[in-house]
Amino acid sequence: MYKIAVAGTGYVGLVAGVCFAEMGHEVTCVDIDEEKVNLMKSGVSPIYESGLENLMQRNYTAGRINYTTDYHSAYKNANAIFIGVGTPEQPDGSANLSYIATVARQIAESVENDCLVVVKSTVPVGTNDKVEQFIQDFLVKDVKVEVASNPEFLAQGSAVHDTLHAERIIIGTESKWAEDLLTKIYEPFHIPIVSVNRRSAEMIKYASNDFLALKISYMNDIANLCELVGADIQDVAKGMSFDERIGSKFLNAGIGFGGSCFPKDTKALEYIARQNGYELKTVKAAIDVNKEQKTMLYKKASKRLITFNGLKVAVLGLTFKPGTDDLREAASLENVPLLLGQGADIYAFDPVGAENFAKVHPEGKNGKGSITYVSNIEHALEDANVCFIFTEWGEVKTLLPETYRELMRTPLVYDGRNIYRVEEMQEAGVEYHSIGRRPAI
Ligand code: NAD
Repeated sequence: MYKIAVAGTGYVGLVAGVCFAEMGHEVTCVDIDEEKVNLMKSGVSPIYESGLENLMQRNYTAGRINYTTDYHSAYKNANAIFIGVGTPEQPDGSANLSYIATVARQIAESVENDCLVVVKSTVPVGTNDKVEQFIQDFLVKDVKVEVASNPEFLAQGSAVHDTLHAERIIIGTESKWAEDLLTKIYEPFHIPIVSVNRRSAEMIKYASNDFLALKISYMNDIANLCELVGADIQDVAKGMSFDERIGSKFLNAGIGFGGSCFPKDTKALEYIARQNGYELKTVKAAIDVNKEQKTMLYKKASKRLITFNGLKVAVLGLTFKPGTDDLREAASLENVPLLLGQGADIYAFDPVGAENFAKVHPEGKNGKGSITYVSNIEHALEDANVCFIFTEWGEVKTLLPETYRELMRTPLVYDGRNIYRVEEMQEAGVEYHSIGRRPAI
């Protein structure tokens, strides 16, 4: 078993740390956020992920995991230090590597034994080379430090499951020592390991994420065309899904992809290509389609209604997908300001994302409109003039079509997740607009 330190306790770092502890390693998670560290020490997860808190508590009690802001003590004797800090998008689309650089510097100042630094964060191709050089430049003690790439493929909402039951683990190394050590660390997971060089590992992450983003944008593009020619995107997707070369996943049309990864990773790869004098046309198209798609329903509704001014608007779902409290690049963040700007009185429901959303749009009067957060859907729908569905939470999916007709002043629904069948909404007497399908009027 190894002594492991993890830098950053977000979705990637904390889940990795907890899963390493679960496999028997001795783990110290480091974060600069003292509040987060105190929360984790008291057994509370700072992020919402199914099953995470249980594992945190079990491994903390067993003494296999600890949390600290003291990076020096965490890094100095670690066999491996995993970096899981953010690499957010900059205005030009490139990845901001300043958090990675800070951790690299802290590692260089702290390590007192040979150790492997493993970059889990998503970073542009060639970054691991630079991190290794950077650490060498600032290294205080005469010890061996190598860098390996180990990109993360978990999906928020099922992060713990995805880590413990991953389809593959990618390791990118430049020496047998690094490859062997990383392989041994992952041995208890019993997951196939694909071992490549560092640059290929870095590229595998972008190429995988961008392929999925492309698949989503392709389906959204086809969905928009379906509406124009009278085809139904769900039937089209079903027909496509039987072809094993296409597969059945990621064929759902909707109001575009969000989250902390697809939007930034598409832009980052497109930027990397541009820097290398290459135009990555496919990925650029995926970005463009997604930008349009986010406000597709708002545009449809704007054509249908004279104004949103003074209307009660029910918003169901705020997070970028169900199962997470993450709002990064969520469709709601684009649409709510547009609705508020038009003077809408929004009643928003989200089982876990409302608190975070209220930090951006505090409850009450907001510009020309207002926003109220409600903990039950019925309250949002009561007397509403129009309803937008942005996230397919279970609570929303199980809502009966009749409920809209019974509760709303005018049963007018814009569904960005194609939750309902058009026919059932038609039968229930709901005017229903969705993505890539005929409306029920
Ligand atoms: P996050 O923003 O949730 O967490 C980052 C954490 O790092 C924060 O808690 C922050 O306080 C901490 N931090 C910043 N500087 C630090 C320092 N010097 N030392 C210690 N901690 C520090 O980020 P995330 O969503 O977990 O993503 C991390 C990386 O993993 C990104 O590169 C992302 O692209 C990639 N990734 C994310 C996902 C995902 O689903 N979120 C999936 C795969 C890969």
